[in-house]
Amino acid sequence: MSTLINPATEEVLRDVEQLDADAVDDAVARAQVAQKAWAAAAPAERAAALRAFAAAVDAHVGELAALEVANSGHPIGAAEWEAGAVRDVLQFYAASPERLSGSQIPVAGGLNVTFNEPIGVVGVITPWNFPMPIASWGFAPALAAGNAVLIKPAEWTPLTTIRLGELALEAGLPAGLFQVLPGKGSVIGERFVTHPDVRKLVFTGSTEVGTQVMAKAASQVKRVTLELGGKSANIVFDDCDLERAAATAPYGVFDNAGQDCCARSRILVQRNVFDKFMELLEPAVKGVVVGDPANRDTEMGPLVSKKHWQSVAGYVPDDAPVAFRGSAPSGPGYWFPPTVLTPQRTDRTVTEEIFGPVVTVLPFEDEADAIALANDTEYGLSGSIWTDNLSRALRVSRAVEAGNLSVNSHSSVRYNTPFGGFKQSGLGRELGPDAPLHFTETKNVFIAIGEK
Ligand code: NAD
Repeated sequence: MSTLINPATEEVLRDVEQLDADAVDDAVARAQVAQKAWAAAAPAERAAALRAFAAAVDAHVGELAALEVANSGHPIGAAEWEAGAVRDVLQFYAASPERLSGSQIPVAGGLNVTFNEPIGVVGVITPWNFPMPIASWGFAPALAAGNAVLIKPAEWTPLTTIRLGELALEAGLPAGLFQVLPGKGSVIGERFVTHPDVRKLVFTGSTEVGTQVMAKAASQVKRVTLELGGKSANIVFDDCDLERAAATAPYGVFDNAGQDCCARSRILVQRNVFDKFMELLEPAVKGVVVGDPANRDTEMGPLVSKKHWQSVAGYVPDDAPVAFRGSAPSGPGYWFPPTVLTPQRTDRTVTEEIFGPVVTVLPFEDEADAIALANDTEYGLSGSIWTDNLSRALRVSRAVEAGNLSVNSHSSVRYNTPFGGFKQSGLGRELGPDAPLHFTETKNVFIAIGEK
């Protein structure tokens, strides 16, 4: 059993059973049977089943959101968006079973066709920061492509994923096709990696664990998609709308209390507008509404756990170069105020992923310096570029080594566009029109046409 704690109140929420490796083996055996029948079903039938699953999620958005507020401390508005995102991802990929059409390639002497065959049983391992959307980025396209899915939620935040598993069954998905297996990473996750019949892994989490998963998966040449850490840059040039850049910067990094792989946790500001930007940033940071996640006005909730609070707090010792901070409630709960630091370029707050509401602001000299600074990291997930010069926006977008960039905004993830990281932020891409193909093997068949 593991005991879940409400991070906003520190009250015990409930106990959740932790499964063992034998449970994974049983689940894989059931999934293999279910997968064969699922892959053999008519594409329209699979599409209808996914649409029914989407409808079931839609009918339970309020319940799912309330669970996430209690388990993860996400503000209610954000939690509703996350549950709605699962519905939207399912709807989008419900169109795929009828569109995985393969190809016919002209060759001499016969007919050459390419099939997109399902891989089989897919294991999805998720982190605690966005339990619902991240799970759906894996399971929806995998199911659409004809696979069975086993999913292991993070130890701290399993409740919404468990509920999604129940909703899938209630919606009529075949038993065994989509199974949720709560438990430890070192037990359940590890068995996903070592089980020979789990043919593909989708891992979202830290670069440290992702590296181990990839290394172990190599022994079976197991397919992996990795979505890992980030330390993204928000680059503010002197020719941008500085008021808007400053007003939106807190939301580019403090969303989900900074527990966001796409958090723009390094703000890089052209030196000649640095002081002005900081003047504008201060009221914006102080204006972030931090408090009870069940309250509709709340913009930022607590950190997910005491252990994580300690890790984040370790980056802000008493002598930290704090420029200014926002507010946070006192009393029970893992509260941490939005915090703005102005450290040296080499400081560990600039180089390491803090995964909390702590942002560093650094000055840069010119475009070349901004690009060099933005790329001076092992990560490459997302980033923002603020400029009113279109040529500069395009030059810098092409030069920054990251998978998801936004100009004059902080958007990163849309279900219909590809998402993923450069360098040590990951391997492969999720979402977008091609995601189902990443859950297939390409099979080519040549059929000789005899002479008459
Ligand atoms: P984590 O790496 O500690 O854990 C992620 C998952 O892996 C959990 O379910 C955990 O139980 C499991 N796990 C742990 N050890 C394992 C093992 N040996 N084998 C298999 N599975 C194992 O990460 P976390 O702390 O839950 O999440 C935070 C991290 O996730 C951050 O680094 C963040 O940037 C990253 N993240 C990335 C993305 C992205 O899309 N790139 C999205 C969200 C979070």
